[in-house]
Amino acid sequence: MSRPPLAGVAGKSGKRTASPGPGPSAGVSGLSAPGGPSTSGLGPGSISQRPQPTSPRQHGRAPSAELTALFECPVCFDYVLPPILQCQAGHLVCNGCRQKVSCCPTCRAALSPSIRNLAMEKVASTVAFPCKFAPAGCPLLLHHSEKLPHEESCEWRPYPCPCPGASCKWQGTLEAVMNHLALAHKSITTLQGEDIVFLATDIELPGAVDWVMMQSCYGQHFLLVLEKQERIEGHQQFFAAVLLIGSRKQAEGFAYRLELNGNRRRLSWEAVPRSIHDGITSAILNSDCLVFDAAVAHLFAEAGNLGINVTISMC
Ligand SMILES: [Zn+2]
Ligand SMILES: [Zn+2]
Ligand SMILES: [Zn+2]
Ligand SMILES: [Zn+2]
Repeated sequence: MSRPPLAGVAGKSGKRTASPGPGPSAGVSGLSAPGGPSTSGLGPGSISQRPQPTSPRQHGRAPSAELTALFECPVCFDYVLPPILQCQAGHLVCNGCRQKVSCCPTCRAALSPSIRNLAMEKVASTVAFPCKFAPAGCPLLLHHSEKLPHEESCEWRPYPCPCPGASCKWQGTLEAVMNHLALAHKSITTLQGEDIVFLATDIELPGAVDWVMMQSCYGQHFLLVLEKQERIEGHQQFFAAVLLIGSRKQAEGFAYRLELNGNRRRLSWEAVPRSIHDGITSAILNSDCLVFDAAVAHLFAEAGNLGINVTISMC
């Protein structure tokens, strides 16, 4: 509450300012040549009058781009990463595609028995591969062992539909999420304010059920989710959490409290909202949310409806 309101919440993280200020802008913007006023780095392909360095080792950049192209899978155009297996004629296919094809996509030769290409694996270890979401804007170049873990949490990864229950397969940019919800999930109601009551009706309904609503405050939209599961037969559990329709970084600027209150009892949970980029599923799997069982729900419910007080604050 003591911080200046809304500072830096709405905008992007302004990392890529183009101001030619003093000092080297050290950082992640991988490919851009750290050029001063001189016209040294014109990019690969442009031939300067300087004699080309003959040793490709000297200048890791342009040769690296050519090298990465050698690792392109002919089927999915993603990269073939170790363990690297080839067909009998030496063509490569990525491990994901290899599971789906019975013969080499390039020459139709048999793919089994597996022939491993250790030399290419060694070369792969020297190459910096672009993130899968480079076309969306991710600037990172990564060692092949870091590529998959990074892509799992890459900020440029498309956002999945935040609605619980995996029936909707929509993906898109963060900016498009609200529009998608308005079009495809019209039944979600929205309440304004930092302090609201999330009323889940008919909590006795059998089976797995999700209750979802939206809360708008601080110029942001939050998704409130209550999910009922029966992990062990006959033992129902409820999971409640708040997600920000925003990035992980934005979510860190908020805190939320869920509180069940009634019959002179109180149960509350406080946490940082998750970003919808991470989704509700991982929160529930890790019990990183308000968790209670059917008996507790009973204690607080009135006529089969459960009211959860939701308070969102900035921190
Ligand atoms: Zn492939
Ligand atoms: Zn082949
Ligand atoms: Zn990335
Ligand atoms: Zn959806």
